[in-house]
Amino acid sequence: MFIPDLSKIAIPKGPAPLTQMQIDEYIASLTKKLHDKNAVLIAHYYTNPEIQKLAQASGGFIGDSLEMARWGRDNSAKTVIVAGVRFMGETAAILSPEKNIIMPELTAECSLDLGCPHEEFAKFCKEHKEYAVVVYANTSAKVKALADYVVTSSIALEMVEYLHLLGKKIIWAPDRHLGSYIEEHTGAKMLRWQAHCIVHDEFKANALAELKEQHPDAAIMVHPESPEAVTKMADFVGSTSQILHAVGDMPNKKFIIATDTGIFYKILQAYPDRELIPAPTGGAGATCQSCAHCPWMRLNTLPLIDKALDNLADHRITVDVETRERALVSLNRLLDFSANLKKYGSVEAMINARVFI
Ligand code: SF4
Repeated sequence: MFIPDLSKIAIPKGPAPLTQMQIDEYIASLTKKLHDKNAVLIAHYYTNPEIQKLAQASGGFIGDSLEMARWGRDNSAKTVIVAGVRFMGETAAILSPEKNIIMPELTAECSLDLGCPHEEFAKFCKEHKEYAVVVYANTSAKVKALADYVVTSSIALEMVEYLHLLGKKIIWAPDRHLGSYIEEHTGAKMLRWQAHCIVHDEFKANALAELKEQHPDAAIMVHPESPEAVTKMADFVGSTSQILHAVGDMPNKKFIIATDTGIFYKILQAYPDRELIPAPTGGAGATCQSCAHCPWMRLNTLPLIDKALDNLADHRITVDVETRERALVSLNRLLDFSANLKKYGSVEAMINARVFI
């Protein structure tokens, strides 16, 4: 099995922050420019607050990667600006090949994507041909093209449960922590790729226990890309969207959040009376690579969105036709599975109704 050495990847330094006056001026001018160019901005939950503010001010969208791609596809604008990381731009390009899919920063990567190079993954899949290949959305278009099924963190458990009940052997890639969380909750034993998200991998259980002692009334909310010792301490484990909704549903007023702090913007907008505390990443005196904010998401800036709108051709992201057509099959299975799960209410009900994706 290919075990990526993510200690060698280059972590970009974020750009210098803008002043509030600069932010306000950019938001006003970019809102106009987006409209003039028949363009919309779709931003990931982990982007900086000013990017999310622009998405809202200009009538764009904030969400997770799949919600972003779906919204961009269903919107009438010809040009879609994707503020996120490369695999998100590729997913938007797969779902909307007729549109201009533009990224402010084409070098915005993701450690899960970097940790699953398609050549090595293709070789691995070839060596295990009898397995169903399930990959997380946080992968390149070429890796999605190798997969039978794509999943997001909000539906990964159910998809694996479904395949496991059908008796399939499963390859899981690329996140090792999400993979082991799924195994524990479904009973499936999978062949697991060993990459990780550098943001969630850094959350520390010991420091979290100390923090919880200081805030015994706080609920611990954890994304399943976090290490097992951290998910085991959680009051709630779920995708970023699920954490956002759970904060509104739970009786607590205080929350310790183990995911990217970019989500604080949307949570506090929806629930301004809640107190949010970032989960600790390094323990006392230690250093962290991300400090709970993705270094590649940080690369999306208002000046770069401005530049991209003036030079669409230089910021366009494309996926070749063959890769796109193959990746679309596994992505469509995700959409199909999600729609059927909603319709039948549970994996078992789907299987009883003989729904086979
Ligand atoms: S937060 Fe983690 S999973 Fe998300 S883009 Fe950054 S490195 Fe990738």
